[in-house]
This record gives sequence, C-alpha cells and structure tokens, in this order.
Amino acid sequence: MNEHIENKLRHCKTLPTLPAIALKVIELANDPDINLEDVCKYITLDPALSAKILKIANSPLYRSRREATNLRQAISVLGTHTITVIALSFTLANSFIKHSTNNSKAIDHLFFWKRAIASALACRALGEKLGLRFQDDLFLAGLMQDIGILVFFAIMPEEYESIFSATDDHDTLLNNERQAFGTGHDELGHAFLKLWNIPDYIALSCMASHCQPGPEAVSTPGLHSCTAVSRYLAEYFLTPNKPGKLNNLIKTAQAWLNIDADVLGEVIDTMKEGLSSVEDLFEVTILEPAKISQIIDEAKELLALQTIAKVRELEEKTHRDSLTGAMNRKFFDDTIQREFHISLRHQLPLTIAMLDIDHFKKINDTYGHITGDEILTSFSRIVINQIREDDIFCRYGGEEFALILPGTPLNAARNVTTRLKDAITKNIHKTDDGHEIRISASFGVASCLNGTPHFEKAIDLIKAADTALLAAKKAGRNRIIEWKQS
Ligand code: GH3
Ligand code: MG
Ligand code: MG
Repeated sequence: MNEHIENKLRHCKTLPTLPAIALKVIELANDPDINLEDVCKYITLDPALSAKILKIANSPLYRSRREATNLRQAISVLGTHTITVIALSFTLANSFIKHSTNNSKAIDHLFFWKRAIASALACRALGEKLGLRFQDDLFLAGLMQDIGILVFFAIMPEEYESIFSATDDHDTLLNNERQAFGTGHDELGHAFLKLWNIPDYIALSCMASHCQPGPEAVSTPGLHSCTAVSRYLAEYFLTPNKPGKLNNLIKTAQAWLNIDADVLGEVIDTMKEGLSSVEDLFEVTILEPAKISQIIDEAKELLALQTIAKVRELEEKTHRDSLTGAMNRKFFDDTIQREFHISLRHQLPLTIAMLDIDHFKKINDTYGHITGDEILTSFSRIVINQIREDDIFCRYGGEEFALILPGTPLNAARNVTTRLKDAITKNIHKTDDGHEIRISASFGVASCLNGTPHFEKAIDLIKAADTALLAAKKAGRNRIIEWKQS
C-alpha cells in the first residue's frame, strides 16, 4: 500500500474509536477456542446488543432453528461463531458507519449505509443459494467491503472529496483513487480492518471483492466471490432504474459464480425475505415496503427477459455457420420448408437465389485454404450487409450459398441480386502478404407465384434455382439467371 496513505491511516485522529464491548467482540472473533460462557459474558455487558442478537436469532434469517428466549439459548442454538460474527457486524457498523465522524457533504451517509446493508444481505443470500456455510461471515464481509471509502473521508477529507464526487460509478471511483493516491479503497479498507484486528478472512474480502475473478474462484465459489457479486446486487436492489446496473449484475454473477439470471431472481427473493429483519437490526429502512414488491417484480421480469435473450442468443449460435456467420444448412432446410408452406397457403410471393463463388477452387489452390476461408467470410459479410432483416442468408455447402427472400416477387428480387452481384465484384480482398483478390459469383434464381408456375414442394423450388445456377455457370459465370419453365 502507498506509504503516505498508510502513515495517514496509522496517525489519523478522526477515525472513530471502538467502545470497549466492540474490542471484546473482536477479541472473541479472533479466538479459536471461543466458548459459550465467554461470548455470553461479554455480550450481556451491552444490553442493547444482547437484545439485538436475541431478536435476530428469532428472525426469519434463522427461521429453521428453535426459538430462543434468552441470549444463552440463542448462542447454543446458533453457535458461538455465528453469534460473535453477528455481534461484530452490529458493533462495527454502529461504531463506524452509522456514527461516522465525517460530515462531508460529498457523501450521502444514509445511502452508503443502506448500500452496505443491502450488500451484506445480498452476500448472505448468495451464500445461502450456493449452499455455503457461515452465512454470517458472508454478511459481515458484504457489509465491510467498502469501508475503505469512509476511511478515505476520515484520513484525507479534502483530497478525497473531489475524487469521490467526480463519479457515481463504483469501479471508476476505484480506478480514480488508485490513480490519484496509488491506493484504492479496497486496499485501504483491508489495512484499516487489519488495524482494528478484524479477522483476516473478512479483511481480505475488501480486496478480493474488487478484483477480477480467477478460475479457482469460479470453480469453488466462496466468501470472496459472493462479496464481489453482492455489491452489484445491492446497487441494482437500491437503484434498479439506473442504466447498466442490471447488465453489470448479470455479467458479474456469471463471471464470478457462473450463475444465470434465473438464479439471481431467486437470490433477490431471498434478500426480500431477510430485509425486514436486517432493517430492524440496524434501525434503518432500506426500501419502503410499497416499493419492495414493485422492485422485486420488475427485477424478476427483467431477469426473465434476459434469460429469454440468452436462449435466443444460444439458438442463434446453433443456427449459424461458425466460419462465415451465415445461417447453417439445417436452418436453411427448416426455413425453406416453413416459408414455402406460408407462401402456398397465403398466396404470397417467395424467391430463392442460389449463389456460388466462381472458380473458388483456384483461389484455394493459388492462395491457400486460410485465404479461401477469409474470402468465404468476407463474401458472407458483403451479402449480409446488403439484405433486409427478413431475408435469410445461408451457407448451403462449401462455397455455395442460398438466399431466401420471403414476400419478395421475382422482379423485386432482381434488384437485390443485381446489387449483390455488383457489391461482390467491386470488393477487393487484401491478403496479409499483399495480394489483392477479386471474386465473382453466379446466381440462380427461382420464384413462387408472380407469373411463374407453382412448385409443388420446397425441394422443387430449390431444384429450379439450382438448374438456373448451373445455366449461369455454363453461360460464363458472374451473372444472374432466372429459372423459366421449359
Ligand atoms: P465454379 O466456378 O464452377 O463454381 O468453380 P469452383 O472452383 O468454385 O467450384 P468447385 O465446386 O470445383 O470447387 C469448390 C471449392 O471450394 C472446392 C473446395 O475445396 C472449396 N471449399 C469448399 N468449402 C470450403 C471451405 O470451407 N474453405 C475453403 N477454403 N474452401 C472450401
Ligand atoms: Mg464455385
Ligand atoms: Mg461449387
């Protein structure tokens, strides 16, 4: 960490001091031999804290357990570790975030506080969904991950204010801090929590939650990956209408935890269930009750849409030829059947064109297959750029392509194919070693309706276009021939 910042942190007089009970709780949290008696003894010293813990132990967050009527029971039901971590969350939050000594107008403390709690809730809900143990650690890590921001305000209020106010995007803020001070709030938060003797695994999650996910994080999601995703969930939860928040959330959840939009919807539901207990514990309203349902419903709707978009994307992929980006042969076969049927049934025009690159074998033989592949790809790009959204361009096989023009009669198709033929011959393909290659293509066109006779089946239409293509090749290539009944 930057030395200057580290010195400031060590000698800062404006950081809040911890009450005795908080110091004791930290000690308990670091004690591997912690026992029920000790936890009970120290926590009962603070009646407000005891009451809080009892309340949370009986809240829906721990709904599967027995009801506890006193602190001792709560500790024996939930275990010493859980109770200590809850106590730690509460005392840390209370001493630092809620009663921050910083009065800068640049930061909306209430919003910071809500965001921290929502992150904590999100982190816990993610852990629950993924079947992780120690959900209270997750809660605490989520709560503390951005504490570095408040530390910055405490140790260098003037310098930090302008950096903080310059952006409302969290990741940009982190980058700006690193640029201005050589240290971001991730590192500063970590150093600060270490200074306060908070257990390492919690302090470290400040850092980890602001990194990029490594392969091991994704294969075994844990505290750090949940923390990383939790802040995006919290931001979406609190400001669902801000552009980009949902996309960021989905991308991060995918990258860190390999979970999709459906699972995120369930996590948001879990957050909703825990919300009132947490609001109670920290005495803050995160969302107005009337708004909660609205946000949850909207979030689920949007997430469902994202899932549909994903399915579409996947479908798109399975329907495309991977080399050229044209639709593949299977898609052509299905589509031509469907379009032929529609054309017949509704008496609508339908035209198909078969396109075959001229002397393509020679290109492969002269410049190699890699260049041949590149030419197939650029050929497809030229065609795709020229056609309408409803037209379907497919790779029929090798260097032969098929263009389906639904609703297009022969004379209108003539404009399209002429434009394509010209664009193809005009294009110059430059190879890496300086060659300039021009190509041409031959077209065979056939139409249903529009003066031409009916075909009985889709295959007859394809055969007709193929016959016309053959005639175009025979007639000298680089031309369009329309099928005519002989
Ligand atoms: P014509 O003008 O009569 O169509 O001649 P042509 O050489 O284009 O036709 P022919 O059918 O004789 O040769 C087609 C060539 O296309 C042969 C084949 O190796 C090549 N080809 C087919 N698929 C691919 C591919 O995916 N990549 C590359 N580089 N070449 C391919
Ligand atoms: Mg050819
Ligand atoms: Mg061919």
